[in-house]
Amino acid sequence: MNYLLLKNDTARTSSIRIFFRAGSVNDTDQKQGLAHVVEHVLCDPSGGYYEFDAETYKEYLVFSSEQLPQDTGEVLEKLWSKLNAPISYLRFRKEKEVIHTELLQHPPDLTLQTAMEVLFGNTPLMYSSGGYNEQVIDLTLNDVATFRDNYLTPDNCKVVITGNFDQATIEPFLAQNLTQTRTSPSPSSAQIPRGCIVRDKDSDLETINFFYSLFSRSEYLAQPQISILINMLIGSSSALLNQLLRKNFGVYSLAEQTEYYSECGFFNFGFFINPNRTDEAIGVLENMFANIKKHLTNELFERAKQRTLFEWQRWLSDPSAISWWHGENLIIANRSCDIETDLFPALEKTTLEDIHALAQKYLTTQPTYIDPATGSAH
Ligand SMILES: [Zn+2]
Repeated sequence: MNYLLLKNDTARTSSIRIFFRAGSVNDTDQKQGLAHVVEHVLCDPSGGYYEFDAETYKEYLVFSSEQLPQDTGEVLEKLWSKLNAPISYLRFRKEKEVIHTELLQHPPDLTLQTAMEVLFGNTPLMYSSGGYNEQVIDLTLNDVATFRDNYLTPDNCKVVITGNFDQATIEPFLAQNLTQTRTSPSPSSAQIPRGCIVRDKDSDLETINFFYSLFSRSEYLAQPQISILINMLIGSSSALLNQLLRKNFGVYSLAEQTEYYSECGFFNFGFFINPNRTDEAIGVLENMFANIKKHLTNELFERAKQRTLFEWQRWLSDPSAISWWHGENLIIANRSCDIETDLFPALEKTTLEDIHALAQKYLTTQPTYIDPATGSAH
């Protein structure tokens, strides 16, 4: 299935997303940022009446737009023709400058980048999806054209349209332009570590970040348990912080954050710690995560389950969130996963024991590895 149309007649807009299975993992050591440049060159967000948007991820590029229901067909054809139009040299030059400024203003997060290097060292998964100015500057028009010819092809593409639109005007166009599925370019064969700790020193402040890999592609549909676990971990963080304060490690702040990649998702606990007691603090924190089950109580579980339900129900009324959800599933896992018919029942069935088992499996800093092809750990 190369396109998916999900109609909701009560929506006031429609959302189009075109995913290509190619991203920064298809860059090379010397050409980091190429996928990002391709994304910019092909999609001019300020071009014309409609607003187009585009983003580069590690393993896919996505081009999207939102519009009024009656404009859906016209916008789809415009977006499609942009992606297939000849690449102008002037535009290429201009976008390299845009990216130059973008990277100066938003340089890659150093802690995250360090984690990526530790977790995915020597594989393209460690590339920052935005690239680096030192390399972007040397990219050529030919690099861009070659990347597009290799990867941004109709048979390496998934289109998802959601919200309110006229199916009769859209379907013939999609059927004509999207031919058979070909096997997606094979993902990096990197093995995914289960966790890593990154220490970072900024003036007299030391931060410690625990990165936990939460799922591999093969477990991508275990979303209900993962969402509940993440919400429980966020809920339990104040208890963890109190425990550290009591032990006088000088922790005065705590950040938690989830980073998702298509290959795996990360849950990241960040601690700011007294630099004189870092080693002790790491020991305490590791111990705490080893006994995480104690912190994952039934009360937290019930609240996290309600919160997950609430978040998903809110998504359901948003065409843009829905097109994102389905497109990502299609391009990454090559299958459709429906929130209402697949996820809600799975969420309902999830028990605290499931969450404890998941935590036991993932929240470890032991260097165990997951093979993304098979999902097996070793
Ligand atoms: Zn950009």
